[in-house]
Amino acid sequence: MLLGIDIGGTNLVAAKVRDDGTILNKIGIPVDRSWTAEELCEQIAFLACKAAGNDKEITSVGIGFPGLVDHSAGVVVQTPNMPFRNTKFRELFQKYWDIPVFMGNDANCAAIGEYWAGAAKGCDTVMMITLGTGIGGGFIVNGKLLTGHFGGAMEVGHMVIEPNGIPCGCGNRGCFEQYGSATALIRMAKAEMETDGSSAMWTLCGGELRNVQGITVFQAAKTDDAAAKRVLDQYISGLAVGIANLINILQPEMICLGGGIGCADEELFYEPLRKKVGQLVYDKHAPIPITRAKLGNDAGIIGAAMLCNMI
Ligand SMILES: [Zn+2]
Repeated sequence: MLLGIDIGGTNLVAAKVRDDGTILNKIGIPVDRSWTAEELCEQIAFLACKAAGNDKEITSVGIGFPGLVDHSAGVVVQTPNMPFRNTKFRELFQKYWDIPVFMGNDANCAAIGEYWAGAAKGCDTVMMITLGTGIGGGFIVNGKLLTGHFGGAMEVGHMVIEPNGIPCGCGNRGCFEQYGSATALIRMAKAEMETDGSSAMWTLCGGELRNVQGITVFQAAKTDDAAAKRVLDQYISGLAVGIANLINILQPEMICLGGGIGCADEELFYEPLRKKVGQLVYDKHAPIPITRAKLGNDAGIIGAAMLCNMI
């Protein structure tokens, strides 16, 4: 029996996970933004003990963090929205519970979850890309997670796809996540709405730009709104560049898309995306399937628990 923990910006969630990837029970607590790194570690350890209950069969704990993690050193290097900075997490955790602790990035964990129990079950080499506030990535090759030398591989969101492009939170310009994340889609929608006062997107967001969400664009495009269709075309074009680059370098058996955008419509999103990616990839003889992730938030917990088999 394994224990998986998903550390999100708003909630910490833990669950017992069977060796086949089945979640047995799940508990969560809200994150208090005032916690220090040490307090956060303590809360994670408490939550892990609570989720484990009296189960003496648990052999390891796996934890997915929203940021850069060095598993071999047991260190959380940095997390954009949390207080970790070169935090010796494993050492702090094991003060409370002396058990093997596996650490990973949350997008890596989502990839493992989908590989083990979701859309990519049965594949040997799969790439997962999560399209949310930013873009995360995870790559499993021949049944093992690609971690990179210091654990920071597959930070695909910060692959530069446009020299001197849009500034990114990381300090560079033109990063993939400035063109392919949900945040980017929302930014593009707002810009288009400002030049097209008649767009159906205005009605859908109650006349307030701040209410625009990723789904607003899809809802409007479904009603044939021209502005929304222009936004989607622009967005999918940027996303396709990043995905085609990744296929050219790594050629997975399958690409699995998660996060909010990953749930998007087949006709409005997946079909045009596959077409654009197909035009950009170098090896055109066999298209790489691009599919929707299946497990939602559970992918991260299952994947965290399964880190022990993957790294
Ligand atoms: Zn960046």
